[in-house]
Amino acid sequence: MRYQETTPPVFTLTAGPVDAYPEVLRALGTTVLYDYDPAFQAFYENVTLKAQKALKSDNPPMILQGEPVLALEGAAASLIAKDDVVLNLASGVYGKGFGYWAARYAKTVEEIEVPYDTAIDPESVRAFLKDHPEVKVVCVCHHDTPSGTINDIDAIGAIVAEAGALLIVDAVSSWAGMPTGPSACQAAVYVTGPNKCLGCPPALSLVAVSDAAWAKIEANPDAPFASMLSFTDWKNAWKKTEPFPFTPSVAEINGLNAGLDRYLNEGAEAVWKRHAVTAKACREGCKAMGVDLWAATEEIASPTTTAVRMPDGIDAGPVLAEARARYGVTLSAGRNETLGKLIRIGHMGPTAQPAYALVAVAALGGALKALGVKVDVAAGLAAAQDCWDAAIDE
Ligand SMILES: *Cc1c(COP(=O)(O)O)cnc(C)c1O
Repeated sequence: MRYQETTPPVFTLTAGPVDAYPEVLRALGTTVLYDYDPAFQAFYENVTLKAQKALKSDNPPMILQGEPVLALEGAAASLIAKDDVVLNLASGVYGKGFGYWAARYAKTVEEIEVPYDTAIDPESVRAFLKDHPEVKVVCVCHHDTPSGTINDIDAIGAIVAEAGALLIVDAVSSWAGMPTGPSACQAAVYVTGPNKCLGCPPALSLVAVSDAAWAKIEANPDAPFASMLSFTDWKNAWKKTEPFPFTPSVAEINGLNAGLDRYLNEGAEAVWKRHAVTAKACREGCKAMGVDLWAATEEIASPTTTAVRMPDGIDAGPVLAEARARYGVTLSAGRNETLGKLIRIGHMGPTAQPAYALVAVAALGGALKALGVKVDVAAGLAAAQDCWDAAIDE
């Protein structure tokens, strides 16, 4: 018995997009209102204020009508002016990629780049900004998903604020899965989305913009307007009395509303806890089975994704295919630099449940074993279950 590629897998334990919560899927199937119906305008305002509560942001966040790459590119286009010197922090594929967008709009982009199994040292940012007081904007990716590693954005944010620069944060795959938000890291622009830890499909961005960032954007003559990348177009669109610049994705707003309700009703702390326990069970399971984590130190391993280093001479591709065919479990590959070198188990939204750690360890371990790698799957499963049991009485 093998699972066919042409039929959906039994379990999707990926690092995004993720399986959506059932209540989100139901909401996606509800009435599509006319965007200027007063009921929809009031609903949109309400969803924005709910998102503000969930993000704990000072200003109502913008909902942009495309998955978070739209908001990341829009952040670069809006906040970075032609004569700006930008410092880009790259500890992975997404952090590195942001530098290419920044380069389109900035005078120059400087970069601190570290190996993709490590994190940015906040002190290196302090030292750089001391030597380069001309830096206006700093960009960082919180959880660089293709490596499953976390940067200390709260420490970096404090340093950037002290230096008087503005911080752009990509928190797409960390927000709603661990303690993080725009205030704690003093972000000027904090980009996230509902399609990772909030358990919604990919389609929208959430962006919190500080007053200082709005002032800079409004003073930037090249900030886009009448454009899908524009922040200014959408700034006030959340108010029920204001027009939309373009038609919002009505069905996706229905889904986002359900995702936010789910998050707020369960309670942020409880949601973060599920993510942390599942990640710990995965890490312990993988180590006990005899494979290494990708992260150079466990303290930077993400609570929303576990990246596992492939043993020497083993390419991740056939292992992923084997896990899918043998067990019906879809896991994530790496991207660009990390492609082939690691496999990622996502714990985001509905899949942040310790039971899935057992599924993931069984599928990954079984696939490695089938390909001739010496692993102790039973020891991995036992270790994962121990973590689960330990968390029950906490
Ligand atoms: C998922 C994700 C995004 C959104 O980009 P896609 O590659 O289109 O999914 C942006 N940044 C990070 C860190 C992400 O994990």
